[in-house]
Amino acid sequence: MGSKISRQFAINYMIMFLLIIALAVTTILLQDAYFTSIEEKASIDTDEMIRDYKSNGLEYAFNRQPVEKGDYIEVIDNDYKVLDSVNSPNSKGYVYTLREFNEMIFSQDYLGYHYVEYIDDSDRFMLLYMSEGRDYKGVLMFFIGVFIALSFMAAVVYANVTSKKIITPIGKLVEGVVLIGRGDYDFDIKFDSSNELEILKDSINSMSKKIKQEIGLREKSESNRKKLILNISHDVKTPLTNIIGYSQTLIDSNEIKEFNCEDVQRALEIINSNGVLANKLIQELFELSHIEMDEGPIKTEKADICELMRIKLIQYVNEFEDNGIDYSFDIPDGPVILDVNKIKFERAIDNIIQNSMKYNKRDFSIDVSMKSENSKVIIAISDTGVGIPKEYNSIIFEPMVRVENSRNREFGGSGLGLSITRHIIEKHGGTISLDSAYESGCRFVIEIDHF
Ligand code: ADP
Repeated sequence: MGSKISRQFAINYMIMFLLIIALAVTTILLQDAYFTSIEEKASIDTDEMIRDYKSNGLEYAFNRQPVEKGDYIEVIDNDYKVLDSVNSPNSKGYVYTLREFNEMIFSQDYLGYHYVEYIDDSDRFMLLYMSEGRDYKGVLMFFIGVFIALSFMAAVVYANVTSKKIITPIGKLVEGVVLIGRGDYDFDIKFDSSNELEILKDSINSMSKKIKQEIGLREKSESNRKKLILNISHDVKTPLTNIIGYSQTLIDSNEIKEFNCEDVQRALEIINSNGVLANKLIQELFELSHIEMDEGPIKTEKADICELMRIKLIQYVNEFEDNGIDYSFDIPDGPVILDVNKIKFERAIDNIIQNSMKYNKRDFSIDVSMKSENSKVIIAISDTGVGIPKEYNSIIFEPMVRVENSRNREFGGSGLGLSITRHIIEKHGGTISLDSAYESGCRFVIEIDHF
């Protein structure tokens, strides 16, 4: 693609170059015109002046010429003695030294011109001094100043042209890309340009529209998927309850017991236990879909989280003792008030504690501690069990993630429990993480802001 931008730059540089040339020429012409005008003004007819001097004297001759204030004339002989003068600082009889005379004629320190014109016989000559406008340095400085000022103006014009065509559009592109990158897909980058930046702008604008469309489609299909799972898990619940109920009725029924067929009995137990497992899975799936679908905030009430945790943990004491699990609780007296949905919050804590009991054998301990720090409630639930391998740290809260090992297979979990827990904690404005620094088992840390 022939780059219009490089053409644009070439045009800009050419404009700049032409401007500078034009300025240089203008400056030279101006300077020339100025000096010409000075010369015209100061054009003295020396022949006429000599004639007038001879016929009517020096004063007449001098004043007939276009002399100006500060000009003067002297008639000097070959010994540099002033024979006659008009307006001169030197009166008749003044004698120049040779050095003084040469300096006056040739030195550049004098501001004016010294003309020397011999009067026919060469014994005498006229020394004419013209003062006005002969400050070469000043004039030169003035024109250099004008040149610099005009060059500066040319640079400003150039910068404006470049800015309008290239810099401003690039700035708008950067601003737009940053906003679009932040997810503001409705932002439309706007500028008019005839180069490649216009194509870039159109492409970015249409790309952001496409991304927005895609996101809309993805969200819709995601929501459809969740709805489908929610509906299926809801619809499957009733037949599963029937399977569990009827199989349990048959297991308990005397007719089947009297029938005394071990195969039938075993088959019924398998149907029943699988039904129970499937029912648990479907219930958790239903619960997860429900939380995911429910985009708004959950219903909460103000409650003392210390009290809530104490009541929850007391419920486990017997179970811990029956199973030989050591435990320790460190809950502050409180109150620490939180906006909390008690049922859901308890469900989140249950998931973590029940997992500890489910995935660990005897001879391990469970510790629950809680503290309030910098307006944050921090709850840590740790066990000294088998732990979760480090590589699961970032995914363990995703649905359907289970640690792959032979022991886990016997528990037949759904892999949804921790995902439900995370959603519940997030709905409370908090976070949950697995402490990767904890080596002796699992340590889940929940953090929630409080008042
Ligand atoms: P589920 O228990 O239904 O499989 P979860 O989401 O509750 O699903 O847990 C995900 C996985 O994390 C479990 O399958 C288990 O492998 C592992 N896990 C959770 N808690 C513990 C724990 N306290 N000790 C060891 N492994 C655990």
